[in-house]
Amino acid sequence: MEIELENVKLLFQAITISLLISISISAVYYGYLQRGGSWRVVAQLSLIIPILISLFLIFYVPIISNPIWNALSSFVLITIFLLFVGSYPRFECEKPEEKLGEIENIPIFICRERKGRIYNACYKGRKIKITKSLYDILSEEERRAIFYHEVGHSKVKLWDIMTRLTCSLWLLSVSLILTMFVLVWLSNYDWLNKLIFSIAFLSFLPMYAVVFMISSWVNEHEADSYAVEMVGFKPKAQALIKLHIYNSLKGCENVISAIEFSDLFELDKLSYFQVLKAIIRRVFKYMHPQTVLNQPLPETHPPLRLRLEKIKAFKRHN
Ligand SMILES: [Zn+2]
Repeated sequence: MEIELENVKLLFQAITISLLISISISAVYYGYLQRGGSWRVVAQLSLIIPILISLFLIFYVPIISNPIWNALSSFVLITIFLLFVGSYPRFECEKPEEKLGEIENIPIFICRERKGRIYNACYKGRKIKITKSLYDILSEEERRAIFYHEVGHSKVKLWDIMTRLTCSLWLLSVSLILTMFVLVWLSNYDWLNKLIFSIAFLSFLPMYAVVFMISSWVNEHEADSYAVEMVGFKPKAQALIKLHIYNSLKGCENVISAIEFSDLFELDKLSYFQVLKAIIRRVFKYMHPQTVLNQPLPETHPPLRLRLEKIKAFKRHN
C-alpha cells in the first residue's frame, strides 16, 4: 500500500482553498455587519463565484465524458433536487386567505397556518402573507416592521438573484461531490488512497455552503434594513425577538405578546472571531448526513444576534 503524492496534493489544495474562501467571505461579511455596504460582498462574490464554477467544471468535465459516470451524477443530482423540492421550508397557508390591506401597492393576506408548520410571514408572487398566530402576538408597529421586511425583499432583486445562483451552485456541487465519492469507492485504489480522495472531495463542500449561506443572510439583512428605514429600530428588533421566542414557546402567546423592551437597547461588541465561529459552527453542524438529507439547504436566515447587530449598526449610520 502506497500513498500517492498526487492525491495528498489534491487533499492539501482542497483544504487550503476551502479554508481561504470561507475565512475571507466571513471577514467581508463581518465588515458588512459593522459598516454596511453590501457592494463589498457583491464585489467579493463576483470574484469567488467564477472560482467555484471553474472548480466545479474541472471535476465535472471528466464525468460527462464517461456515459456511466454521467448517468450516476445525473441520478444523484435528481435525487438531491427532489429532496430539496420536497423539504424546502415552504410557507403553507390554509385556504381561504383574508386580505388585510396593502403596503406599497403589495396586497397583504392573513391566513391560518397548517398544523405543525412554521409560524411566519413571506413574500411570494407579489403578495405578502402572514399567519394569524404571528399576527396576533405582534403590536401594530411590529406588524408594520414585518410587512416592510417583506416589501424589502421585493426591492433587493440583486440579492434574490445572488441567492438563487449560489443555491444552484450548492445543489450542483453536492451532487457532483457525492458522485465523486461513490466513484472513488468503486475504483481500484487501496483503502488509504480512497480515504484521502474522499476527504479531499468533502473538503470542497464547506465553501459552497458558506457562499450560499452568506448570500442568503445578506438578502435577509437588506430586507431588515429596509424595515428599519421605514419603521425604526425598536419595532423591528422586537418583532425579530418575539418571532424567535415564539418558535420555541408555542402556546404561550399571552406572554410573548406582552414583551416590551426599554428604548435603551445595548449590544455587546461582536468580534470577527465570534462571527467566524457562528458561520463555521453552522456549516459543520449542517454537514451531518442526516441534516443534509432532512434539509438540503444550509441555514437561510442569519442567527438572531447577527440580525440585531446589523440593524443596530444600520440605525447608527442612518
Ligand atoms: Zn426574509
